[in-house]
Amino acid sequence: MLLKKLNDAGFEAYVVGGAVRDSLRGEIPHDYDITTNALPDQMKQVFHDFHLIETGIQHGTVTVMVNHKPVEITTYRKDSPYQDHRHPDHVEFTSALKEDCQRRDFTINAMCYHPDQGFVDFFGGKEDLKKGIIRCIGDPEKRFEEDALRILRALRFAARFSFAIDPDTARVLLEKKDTLSYVSMERINEEFTGILKSKGCADILEDYREVIEVFLPEIKTIRDDNWKLLHQRLDEETTRRADIRMSLILYALQDRMQARKVLKRMKYSNHFIATCTDLLNTADDPATSDIQFRQVLGRMQTDTDTWFAFQKALHPEMSLAEKKQQYARLTNDAYCWKLSQLHITGKDLIKIGIKGIAIGDTLRILLGKVMHEEIPNEKELLLQEAQKYHSHQK
Ligand code: ATP
Ligand code: MG
Repeated sequence: MLLKKLNDAGFEAYVVGGAVRDSLRGEIPHDYDITTNALPDQMKQVFHDFHLIETGIQHGTVTVMVNHKPVEITTYRKDSPYQDHRHPDHVEFTSALKEDCQRRDFTINAMCYHPDQGFVDFFGGKEDLKKGIIRCIGDPEKRFEEDALRILRALRFAARFSFAIDPDTARVLLEKKDTLSYVSMERINEEFTGILKSKGCADILEDYREVIEVFLPEIKTIRDDNWKLLHQRLDEETTRRADIRMSLILYALQDRMQARKVLKRMKYSNHFIATCTDLLNTADDPATSDIQFRQVLGRMQTDTDTWFAFQKALHPEMSLAEKKQQYARLTNDAYCWKLSQLHITGKDLIKIGIKGIAIGDTLRILLGKVMHEEIPNEKELLLQEAQKYHSHQK
């Protein structure tokens, strides 16, 4: 519909990039990008009765909402000189579709589609998609020199589709790995997180570890036998989450105490860091007995499914079914491992005359006793115990 509107106004317009690639792979695209020879002002005119957001008008991009979904429409652009290995000096529009495709990163990302004209594929993207190859458009030397982020994008797409990287592209990407230092950590994080979530993550991390070392030098300390273990763990389908896989990598480091520092440097969110730290702190805890398991649960903020997935990767011999059964038993009302699960509150303690910091202390002592099954989690008995403790204190 958007294509037709642009065509009716006399402009060329095509779906381009990821959406074309993903449809050819038989997947449903998660979003659509359109490329057109209409200039930004002309796009605004064509879509004057649409909800239009000027997302990157200086780069020629507007976003139009269709059925509550954003579609990015960008004016054909051509390559202009790049500065600082990341940003083009200025944006130059062009009237030639081929030039717009030429500025894109990889052949599989530079195909266009129009319902009346079919596919437009100047650089053999379809063939590379069929063969499973990530290949730069044009001279890889120049393309990686222009924009160092493409190094990680190549790894991300290779990991996502389990594709090989064309030998020339791979050679240059390795040669130019150090230019990644020009890229902001936020962008590195985004691409690296994409790699971590991908099916082929384990192979890419191992085959291109010199690239990853540029921003995660700590992995140099992973010994060969640990790489082997790490590879197996990352290959587990159940671990296909960025936080779990990052924790597995950090677990393989010689000095795991560095984990928090690494995660902070890599600009991970506080929530992400908390999950990884929880998983690492409890990684070596077998949590076999009920008491140990309760202690682990009490020390964690992270949800148990995440913990199960991580533990299963570390201890493949562990029976998930048994562990889940044990957990189900522990979540039975009578058990607890957090203050909030105790069948008594601070208010109850105040009523029997306990005050100030003694309230928290008493609750923690009661929790310890319940966790160790010295007393049941029953209000009356807990109150009696609190009273006993309180009179001892006086
Ligand atoms: P995804 O499914 O991950 O969104 P995508 O191909 O849509 O994949 P985007 O990052 O959304 O990737 O970029 C959209 C398109 O813009 C790409 O397909 C590619 O043609 C082009 N592109 C994006 N980043 C670059 C870059 N750094 N250099 C050259 N072209 C790029
Ligand atoms: Mg996209």
